[in-house]
Amino acid sequence: MFFKQRIDELRNLINKYDAAYYGRAVSLVSDKEYDDLLTELINLEKLYPEFDDPNSPTRRIGNDLSKPFQKIRHTAPMMSIDNTYSEQDVLEWIDRLKKALPEEDINFVGELKIDGAAISLIYENGRLIRAATRGDGTTGDDVTANARVIPTIPQQIVNHSSPFEVRGEIYMTFEDFRALNESLAEQGQKTMQNPRNTAAGALKLLDPEETAKRKLSFAAYSLISADNNISLHDNAKLLTGMGFAVVSHSERLRCANDIIAYCEHWESSRRTAPFPIDGVVIKVDSIDHHNRLGATAKSPRWAIAYKYPPEKSETVIESIDASVGRTGVVTPIARLHPVFLAGTTIKNASLHNYDEIERLGVRAGDTVEIEKGGEIIPKVIKVDLAKRPPDSIPFEPPIECPSCGSPLVKLEGEVALRCLSRSCGAQLLAALEYFVSRTAMDIKGMGPAVVKQLIDGDIIKNAADLYDLTVEKLLTLDRFAEKSASNLVAALEESKTRPLSRLINGLGIRMVGEKAARDIAESINDISDLYGIPIDNDKTLEGAALPCFCLTDIEGIGTQMAQSIRLFFDRPENVEMIECLRTKGLNLKGDKGRIDAANASGKFAGTTFVLTGTLKKYTRDQAKEMIHGKGGKVSSSVSSKTTYVLAGENAGSKLDKAVALGVRVLTEMEFESLF
Ligand code: NAD
Repeated sequence: MFFKQRIDELRNLINKYDAAYYGRAVSLVSDKEYDDLLTELINLEKLYPEFDDPNSPTRRIGNDLSKPFQKIRHTAPMMSIDNTYSEQDVLEWIDRLKKALPEEDINFVGELKIDGAAISLIYENGRLIRAATRGDGTTGDDVTANARVIPTIPQQIVNHSSPFEVRGEIYMTFEDFRALNESLAEQGQKTMQNPRNTAAGALKLLDPEETAKRKLSFAAYSLISADNNISLHDNAKLLTGMGFAVVSHSERLRCANDIIAYCEHWESSRRTAPFPIDGVVIKVDSIDHHNRLGATAKSPRWAIAYKYPPEKSETVIESIDASVGRTGVVTPIARLHPVFLAGTTIKNASLHNYDEIERLGVRAGDTVEIEKGGEIIPKVIKVDLAKRPPDSIPFEPPIECPSCGSPLVKLEGEVALRCLSRSCGAQLLAALEYFVSRTAMDIKGMGPAVVKQLIDGDIIKNAADLYDLTVEKLLTLDRFAEKSASNLVAALEESKTRPLSRLINGLGIRMVGEKAARDIAESINDISDLYGIPIDNDKTLEGAALPCFCLTDIEGIGTQMAQSIRLFFDRPENVEMIECLRTKGLNLKGDKGRIDAANASGKFAGTTFVLTGTLKKYTRDQAKEMIHGKGGKVSSSVSSKTTYVLAGENAGSKLDKAVALGVRVLTEMEFESLF
């Protein structure tokens, strides 16, 4: 039972990291940490085949598919590459190849593994006609418009009329990444996390002009065409001749010694590459050998990625400070003696929460090991107790908010310490910084420094006050001239037409992020639909009032999030501020009307499904997509308004409730035949 629990835990964690990494281009953990969890899961699944699940993350290729893009089926699957952090595994891989092709002289190529996002480019009559992301390996998102603004992707190839496909990596050089972050910081905008996530995110922007501003690059590593497919080495020459940039620093490697030397050389020189690399890829050179070696469900047998673990360094913690976030969470931050690591000088590291400090046993003055994986915020890994100063004292978590002095509390089920004060300056600052940020109202020119001045100068007290700003008021602030002030006023005006989902996200309701904000906006006609809205329809169990629209009717909103939303809208000052935004002309209309009209003709228009338990043939997202595709809705909770409950294995309380309410329950087979 313990192993079943661990398998479930690993699947849930990996699913969460995948959703952030592929869906939002955000790394919640380092790649090494992720890969270690995945390896543990693969090993446990091998040991306990009775817990097999076709939806396990070990079975799929990363999935970056997103809603607004057209879907394109790849000519051949775009696969993962088996990866390892051990030289021994690379040597064993070479041995396996020799056993599989005993008669052959196998040659290899070593390529840098650029840390970016894969893309497929289709050319016909010498013209680029389609570009797609890898997606789930079989189907990708059509990003042709964005690919056209990337200067290193040739739009036209002269003297090449037969169709062909080029695959390669979209990435950002360190230099372009630094320049982008400098310009964002100058405009007062939030800077980007790392080059990989910026490149992957930029490929999915809806406005190609914005993609162009990110200065993406492209390097080709694969050519799929009817002619001249002899070897990777020859293909690279062909690609160069056609005007493509191929992955730089590739080398032909003849034997195991060459391969290990190549892996080690780049491990120590990784920082000399002009772009981020997370390892090297060793590939068999001959295309005939590729065809004979074939592939597993996830990756080709003729390639292996030798990945580099995150870079580490040692430094001293000078102090442990606390920072207050927009929802009042107080996060400990280690102020470090500056240290150079992974290309930048590090002065701060995250300690996550106060339980983590206790787990690490860390104190101010301690010498610690810090790690930076994929350029994400460095973190403290361990303490060197032998170097602890004799006069060091144990760290005590704060009991008062470092900003407003209110007592800190730990809410039930949370590890974080929180300041619950509604007049806390640090929370207001963080909340408004978030409100104006790119993921929320996207007010260009309004960065943290400007927001701070506005709060310190008592010019604004909440988000609605932003819309009273005038050129004259802005001119009283530091570093504002006539032009920058009128640009900012224009940006504020422009932000009034943003979709409601952005405003809901910007309100900073606890637990409500971008996705939940979108789900909410798609389910309502106006934000006022949320005033006084019930959390759920439990009353209907007793057959009381007719069920009305409730928060858990909204797809993706569970009871906890619903409680948090209810709490937010129960506060009169929040509703007052939102209504004030209405009078200033902001868009408070939801998308329900538009979506209902679009779905009205679907077979399942007006039907609501609830999914419960583990489905065997589909992931939840696939089942939801099928329902949405035919005009149906998916809700999180069962009520008498529910039309069908689709029950997979181990269905729990939702199934019981469906039976109690007499809602029709579908097995996976019945669901399939309905479609
Ligand atoms: P991968 O990124 O390890 O390898 C395959 C990809 O490498 C290809 O699709 C291509 O985009 C890229 N690539 C770069 N240079 C290449 C070259 N010269 N030749 C061929 N391909 C090249 O595998 P994956 O399936 O894309 O992703 C899985 C990996 O992503 C995981 O092992 C993990 O390290 C990382 N990941 C991290 C998180 C996280 O939260 N940190 C989450 C999900 C995945």
